[in-house]
Amino acid sequence: MPAPEFRRSGVVTVEDLRGLGLLPPEGRLREGAVAILECPEMIPCNICVPYCPTKAIRMDRLVDLPRVDWDKCVGCGVCVAVCSGLAAFVVDLSKSDADYVTVPHEFLPAPKAGDEVTLLSRRGERVGKGVVVRVWERNKTHVVTVKVPKGLGMEVRAVWVERG
Ligand code: SF4
Ligand code: SF4
Repeated sequence: MPAPEFRRSGVVTVEDLRGLGLLPPEGRLREGAVAILECPEMIPCNICVPYCPTKAIRMDRLVDLPRVDWDKCVGCGVCVAVCSGLAAFVVDLSKSDADYVTVPHEFLPAPKAGDEVTLLSRRGERVGKGVVVRVWERNKTHVVTVKVPKGLGMEVRAVWVERG
């Protein structure tokens, strides 16, 4: 079997996630904030599991892919803060006027609530502007929630603070 394309490109696509069963069902995505663990390789890591406050993440073996119980996930973003692979995100596609995406951010300067930031796609391409609505920090990883244009919730995976 050929190696998955994301190993060559470094880009995990929505189709990859769907194929691996790592996407919440459409109905759950429309209900409100939910974690998406974009973690497609069987690597020995389970740091997200013990830190999830609702015990929503399950791995039977250390090298399994992390599985989220979408009904237990409350979208808190703790997994975003602790994931050493920067592979955990929270999306909220439930609002009619905009999507909300929570991403890890380890660059400086860190964004602040109210900042307008450049939105980067999962390929690292600029795809528009968004407004930061919340920032908190844990161990020098900033957890940034950004309001993005409707339809970009599954595409924006980083924000960039443009220097004037
Ligand atoms: S967002 Fe919070 S509740 Fe949901 S999986 Fe991550 S840590 Fe658990
Ligand atoms: S902490 Fe991140 S890299 Fe490790 S298993 Fe969880 S989602 Fe994957």
